[in-house]
Amino acid sequence: TLTDDPSSDKDRVRVIIRVRPMNNKEYASDKQPQKVLHCVNENSIVFDGGQHSRRFAFDSVFDEASTQEEVFHYSGVKRLVDMAIDGYIATCFAYGQTGSGKTHTMIGAEGASIFRMDKNYRARNLGVVPRSIDYLFQRLRDKTMETSSPYYIRVSYCEIYNEQIRDLIRPGNPDSLQVRGSVEEGFYVENLYHTYIETIDELLTILEEGELNRAMASHKLNETSSRSHAMLSIQIEQDLPEYNDENEQMTRQGKLVFVDLAGSEKVKQSHSKGKQLVETNNINKSLLTLGTCISALSDPSKRAGHIPYRESKLTRLLADSLGGHGIALMIACISPSRICENESLNTLRYANRAK
Ligand code: ADP
Ligand code: MG
Repeated sequence: TLTDDPSSDKDRVRVIIRVRPMNNKEYASDKQPQKVLHCVNENSIVFDGGQHSRRFAFDSVFDEASTQEEVFHYSGVKRLVDMAIDGYIATCFAYGQTGSGKTHTMIGAEGASIFRMDKNYRARNLGVVPRSIDYLFQRLRDKTMETSSPYYIRVSYCEIYNEQIRDLIRPGNPDSLQVRGSVEEGFYVENLYHTYIETIDELLTILEEGELNRAMASHKLNETSSRSHAMLSIQIEQDLPEYNDENEQMTRQGKLVFVDLAGSEKVKQSHSKGKQLVETNNINKSLLTLGTCISALSDPSKRAGHIPYRESKLTRLLADSLGGHGIALMIACISPSRICENESLNTLRYANRAK
């Protein structure tokens, strides 16, 4: 069993794997064997690359048959919500190559259009983000019943595309927003729009519009492949009645962050030129830096040394998430198909290094 004491370093970072079902194209492939990944049990997965076979162990492994509901209940994301309510900074990342199921896992089947589906379909297919927010509201309501102290939820949603930050709630904002601050005092995005929300429906609207606003660059693997990191940040403020006096109200502040990372595939440099090459290098660099920062979070000896937050916008904005009060869950998404074997192995290695 896990303790909720993040000072126990092992518990600061949890890494889980989600394997998506093969799609028609992958089934139609004549490469043999068609599947290179096999989930052995709840904690381990075997990569069978012909001559080399490797077993990896993670906090949980979800196979092709896993449902959205199971991922929500058993991934550890509920623990992140609970800890954010207790004042921690809790971050959930979706990592993986384009098409591996990141948005499916985070937002839901069909991406943003999930919000226009009928109720039953939605109930089955919503991803961890809307489920977590629903759970957050539920927990805060229960708490308020006990303590009758109010809470406030403030949301921002932005994307980092090619080291430029764009507002996903108010896309009309200046094209690239600036990051201000320092490692010591914390970084923030200047002029990023924040909005207080009171209901889950308000959040769903933000998610839907934000998803539609995400930059979609055409890409070799998938025309609508996402080359940007999308970051939803949910600040939770609660009044603490025990510290209430006439002039001042003490509040407890926690934060819950969800990041749908850019596709992790190594785009062959020969296939990208000019602008696209710069973009590819920026993505590779920010994911690499993120990996280094996450592994430092779970390893006190690394944490004592230099942590390269500054090397990318993504890690700057996540410096508080990856620092003293942070806990993280990484959901690494993969396809079991032979067609994706190189990228899947890269993802398993990246995830393995993060834990
Ligand atoms: P990514 O965001 O990583 O690029 P997507 O989430 O868009 O990938 O997934 C690519 C396609 O695979 C989508 O059509 C999605 O609905 C489907 N898919 C992904 N994961 C699953 C899953 N666990 N079960 C069923 N379909 C999935
Ligand atoms: Mg996506």
